[in-house]
Amino acid sequence: MTTPEATPPSERSRIRRLAQRGHYDRATLHAVIDAAYVCHVAFADEHGVHCIPTACWRDGDYLYIHGSNGSRMLKLAASRAQVCVTITHLDGLVLARSAFNHSMNYRSAVIYGEFDVVAEAFKSAALDTLMEHIAPGRSREARPGNANELAATTILRIPLDEAACKISTGGPEDDEADLDLPVWAGVLPLALQPNVPVVVAAPRGTPDYVERWQKAALNRNAVETLTATTP
Ligand SMILES: Cc1cc2nc3c(=O)[nH]c(=O)nc-3n(C[C@H](O)[C@H](O)[C@H](O)COP(=O)(O)OP(=O)(O)OC[C@H]3O[C@@H](n4cnc5c(N)ncnc54)[C@H](O)[C@@H]3O)c2cc1C
Repeated sequence: MTTPEATPPSERSRIRRLAQRGHYDRATLHAVIDAAYVCHVAFADEHGVHCIPTACWRDGDYLYIHGSNGSRMLKLAASRAQVCVTITHLDGLVLARSAFNHSMNYRSAVIYGEFDVVAEAFKSAALDTLMEHIAPGRSREARPGNANELAATTILRIPLDEAACKISTGGPEDDEADLDLPVWAGVLPLALQPNVPVVVAAPRGTPDYVERWQKAALNRNAVETLTATTP
């Protein structure tokens, strides 16, 4: 589905199979990126094609990555090589009556283009945004990067101009002829969720975001225990 404000897909970003699951609007793309901590960056060099996982975050209409100046991926991406960045959230296993019709629920994004190098003057602010992505308020608590750390770090950003999202939801789509088969059918929902945080130091007490993670994990554990003990 394409919303009116969507960027029309390019020839390479246009979703072909099950095109109705495609989204090209910024709001969907932003939501898929914002829910992610990790992306995969694909690139080619003289040794072949590579696809490397790395941390990511978004600011405005750019996806950011960072790492050591020595990283092959970052050196190549900084040289304006063509890359393809993907993000995948696996939301569920979809079990149909037939093996053929099994599938997965997901939200995914594919972004094409070239990375720009973030200039020295903007590195610190970019890393603050990463801290805020990890936990709101974190950039005001963690020690910011010093001159050596910033100098040793490459930060890159890619515009979200050539991108597609694909979203799959719902239950199994079985063939009419299979509906009466004596086979369990349904969905196993899957989600990335916080577990109980492990405290290493808390000299100023527990920050709000840690409390939220803890509450979410404990509530979930309580519901699981209740479900397990309810006949
Ligand atoms: C968790 C998960 C499991 C999947 N399992 C399968 C599977 O088992 N078999 C299978 O065939 N497909 C699977 N897919 C779908 C797969 O990602 C492709 O969409 C599919 O192969 C269709 O390819 P195509 O030949 O139509 O398009 P392609 O020609 O490969 O793609 C054309 C363009 O569409 C866009 N695009 C394609 N797929 C996606 C995507 N998933 N997200 C965002 N943009 C996309 C890209 O811009 C791409 O360049 C899975 C996807 C996910 C996220």
